[in-house]
Amino acid sequence: MTAPHFHIAIVGAGIAGASLAANLPTGQRVLLVEGEDVPGFHSTGRSAAIFSGIYGNAPVRALSRASFDFFSSPPDGFCDAPLISDRGVLFLVGGDQSASLEKMLEEPDVRGATRLVDVAEAVAMVPYLKPDSIACGLYEPDAMDLDVSLLHSAFLRQARARGVEYAGSASVSAIARLDGAWTLHTPKGDFTADVLVNAAGAWADRLAGMAGAAPRGIRPMRRTMVLADIAGDAVDHGCPMVVDIDEQFYFRPESGGLLLSPADETPVEPGDVHPEELDIAIAIDRVEAVAALTFRRVRSSWAGLRSFAPDKTPVVGFDGAVPNFFWLAGQGGYGIQTAPALGRLAAALLMGEALPQRLADHGVDARALDPNRPSLAVEGTAA
Ligand SMILES: Cc1cc2nc3c(=O)[nH]c(=O)nc-3n(C[C@H](O)[C@H](O)[C@H](O)COP(=O)(O)OP(=O)(O)OC[C@H]3O[C@@H](n4cnc5c(N)ncnc54)[C@H](O)[C@@H]3O)c2cc1C
Repeated sequence: MTAPHFHIAIVGAGIAGASLAANLPTGQRVLLVEGEDVPGFHSTGRSAAIFSGIYGNAPVRALSRASFDFFSSPPDGFCDAPLISDRGVLFLVGGDQSASLEKMLEEPDVRGATRLVDVAEAVAMVPYLKPDSIACGLYEPDAMDLDVSLLHSAFLRQARARGVEYAGSASVSAIARLDGAWTLHTPKGDFTADVLVNAAGAWADRLAGMAGAAPRGIRPMRRTMVLADIAGDAVDHGCPMVVDIDEQFYFRPESGGLLLSPADETPVEPGDVHPEELDIAIAIDRVEAVAALTFRRVRSSWAGLRSFAPDKTPVVGFDGAVPNFFWLAGQGGYGIQTAPALGRLAAALLMGEALPQRLADHGVDARALDPNRPSLAVEGTAA
């Protein structure tokens, strides 16, 4: 039997693959292939669900800015509830962290989106902070909570409405290229496609290897999240998220408890990762150092992978050496908050269109994301 043929096959139905599939024009026969039974099982379903416009390097911040309008006013019919809700982020600056604060404030867009607060104001915002543990704070009022599940499912629904076909539980185990077309081998059978999109998250370099493309040095890093119950009613749901300015920990109210992380970045092999007891203990210890809270019990904990290219910038565009192989990977710790812009950008590049003006207006520059840029270890070893 002849394998079903598609113009475009996207491997990976996390937020990256879903946002691209939702942005492709109708008229293309598109297949979205996912190895797991449930799309979003890996990084997309394990995030901290926050939008911070000042997080990440300049190309990432441009992508985040370019995504904000989508979150605040999604297209008609995209979803039936808000994608964002007010949160704010308070970056804590300890007595020995003034250099980190100065470095952050060197960036005009970061300065414009934040304001310095003294200890009294920081404690007024988050009453359980220990005043002696901080020198000042930097407040980002427009940081938001994100409804990741709503966003992801809405992208998938939009993709379906545009005719994108879906193959779940179809882990791609081998890729061949014959007569200018790709063949993907999966437990659900073979599929062929003219163009292959690598939206495989932590597995991006591995998938590239199957297709004969050089790895870009995309490294999966494990990060731990803990949801804990706190004694008494110390945690007010309306408090901002608190983030150490050197990203050594963060925490915010969640489901009547406290969501916290030691902000770990442990290099690991791609896979279904789990939290380590030590990282949970470190998270609690670091939060206790700055917050007068009594931890009652860990309600749940999980870990996920944030996958970074060496320059911590996403990798988006056609491979320079392997024809019709397209990268949409390396979203690191920002893949949800940049998904609207990245999905739109990737669709434009795939279709050979110019960078959408709306993205250019926010400073998005496709060259910074190019898979063939010199800062990527194209001849290096796989992650
Ligand atoms: C703890 C944590 C906190 C985070 N917090 C935030 C945050 O607050 N804000 C934010 O914007 N971002 C955050 N992130 C980052 C964000 O979650 C990721 O950048 C984003 O989810 C990456 O999406 P993805 O689609 O590339 O990867 P994934 O969601 O992992 O999707 C990749 C998919 O590819 C599939 N796949 C891989 N190989 C194959 C194959 N061979 N065949 C078929 N399918 C395959 C996988 O099964 C997987 O479903 C966080 C991440 C973690 C782990």
